[in-house]
Amino acid sequence: MVQILIPQPPPHAINDCMLARPLSAQPTLHLRPTLPLEWLRPHPLLRTMPLDEEHVVAFVPSLSHVAVLNQAALALLQRLPLDHAETLSSVAGSLHALAAMGLLVSSAKPRIPEPAASPVLSAWLHMTNACNLRCSYCYIQKTTARMKTATAYGAIDALVDAALRHGYREVAIKYAGGEPLMALDTVAEAQSYAQARCRAAGLGLQATLLTNGTMLNPVRVARLRELGLGLTISLDGLALSHDAQRPDLRGAGSAAAVRAGIENACAAGLTPTVAITVTGANIGAAPELVAWLLERGLPFTVSFARSQACSRERSALMAEEQQLIEGMRAMYATVAANPPRWSVLGTLLDRADLSYAHGGACAAGKDYMVIDHEGRIAACQMVLDQPVADLTHPDPLSAIREDRQLPLGVPVNEKAGCRECDWRYWCGGGCPIATLRATGRTDVKSPYCNIYTALFPDLLRLEGLRLLRQARPASGEDA
Ligand code: SF4
Ligand code: SF4
Repeated sequence: MVQILIPQPPPHAINDCMLARPLSAQPTLHLRPTLPLEWLRPHPLLRTMPLDEEHVVAFVPSLSHVAVLNQAALALLQRLPLDHAETLSSVAGSLHALAAMGLLVSSAKPRIPEPAASPVLSAWLHMTNACNLRCSYCYIQKTTARMKTATAYGAIDALVDAALRHGYREVAIKYAGGEPLMALDTVAEAQSYAQARCRAAGLGLQATLLTNGTMLNPVRVARLRELGLGLTISLDGLALSHDAQRPDLRGAGSAAAVRAGIENACAAGLTPTVAITVTGANIGAAPELVAWLLERGLPFTVSFARSQACSRERSALMAEEQQLIEGMRAMYATVAANPPRWSVLGTLLDRADLSYAHGGACAAGKDYMVIDHEGRIAACQMVLDQPVADLTHPDPLSAIREDRQLPLGVPVNEKAGCRECDWRYWCGGGCPIATLRATGRTDVKSPYCNIYTALFPDLLRLEGLRLLRQARPASGEDA
C-alpha cells in the first residue's frame, strides 16, 4: 500500500530574526485541482535519501515540501508518466498529493517559481537599552534609556502607515531591547495601541516579546497573557555553558533564573519559544539543553552567533566550522531520540528554513523596520547605530529598501555563490550582517555556507525520522 507522510504545521516559533509567517497561512497541503494523471512525472530534481529498508525521505531542494515515501510510493513514482491505458484510480489521490507537494510535475522542464512576496510587515521595537544581563555577544551599549509612550505610539503609527502604504495584510511586532520587561508599562501601552490601530485598519497583528527570561515572575507572565503577546526566551545551556556567555551584572550565572522564568510561563499556559544561540563554546552542551526542552514539549530555535565569522584565521574558522557541524549533529541525534510533534525543518539550522521557498534569510531590507527608543529607524537591530530615517520620515520603509550604504535586502538569487545553489530558496543565503562582517559585502554567500550545506541532508533525514516515529509511535523503531 502506498504510504506518504508529510509534516505537521511548524510551531509558531519566532526568534530575533525569523521571518514572520502569515496568520492566514494554511497549515496543511491542499490538493491542486486535478491535473490529468498521465501528465504527471517526477520532478527532474527529485532526490531521495534512505531512512530504513522500507522508507525514503523525498524532496526537491528549495522547491518542494518534504515527504516520507514507502517503497510502494517510490515504485509508483518510478512508473510515471502513466500510459493512457492505465487505470490507477486507486492511487489517483496519492499522485495528486505528490503533485501538490511539488514532487511531481506536469512537464519535463518545470519553471522554477520565484518565492512569493511576504504579506507581513515586521517591526522590532527597541524598548530600552537597559538590561540586567551582560551577554558576551550582545551588541547593545547598555544605558538606562527607555522608549517614551509618545515615541511608542509614533512607532506603531509608522508601522501601520507603512503596512497600508505598501499593501501588507499583517504586521508582526517584536518587543525587544535590552530587556523589554524593564519597560513593561510602555510595552503594554504600545501593544494596546497596536491592537486598536490594526483592528481599525483591517490588518492582522502578531506580537511577541523577546526576553532573557530572568524577570518572568507569575505577575508579569499574567500581564503578557492579557496583552495577547507571544513569548520568546533566550537560553543557551542548562547551567555553566549558559552562564559563561550570559552572566548578570555582577558576573553571576543566569541559567537558573531563566529556567524558573520558563517554568512560570508554562505554568500560566503561555508556552514560550526558546531561542538557543550556539557558539563554539556552548555547542557541546546543546544536546542536554535540547533534551530538557523536548521533555517539556517546548518549541525552540537554534541560531549561530553572528559575531563569530569575522576576521579570524581561516584555519581557526575551519576548526570551528567542524566543531559546529559535529555539535549540531549531536543535537539532531538528541531530537531524533525524542522528536517533537511539529516539523523541525524551519527551526534547527540558523536562518535556514527548509519548509517553504523564500527569497531571503530574513526580512531585513525589505519587509522589516527597526525602531529604537528615540524613534530612529534602521534596517536591522544589529545596525541600530546606523539609522536611515526617523519617525518624521513620510515613508521609512522605502528609505530602508533604497539605502545603498547598507543593502541588506539582496535576494538570494542575486548573491554570488548562491545564484546556482540548489538550496537557495530554503537557505536564503544567511544573515546579511554576518556576511557583511565576514566579507565586507552583502551580495555574496553566507560565511556559514559550509555548515549549512553539510547539515541540510542531516536535517532532512531528521525530519524523515520524525515523521516515521510519529506515524508509528508505539513501534519503538530505532531513530
Ligand atoms: S549560503 Fe550557501 S547554502 Fe545558502 S544559498 Fe548561498 S550557496 Fe547555498
Ligand atoms: S540581517 Fe541578520 S541580524 Fe538582521 S534581521 Fe537579518 S538575520 Fe537577523
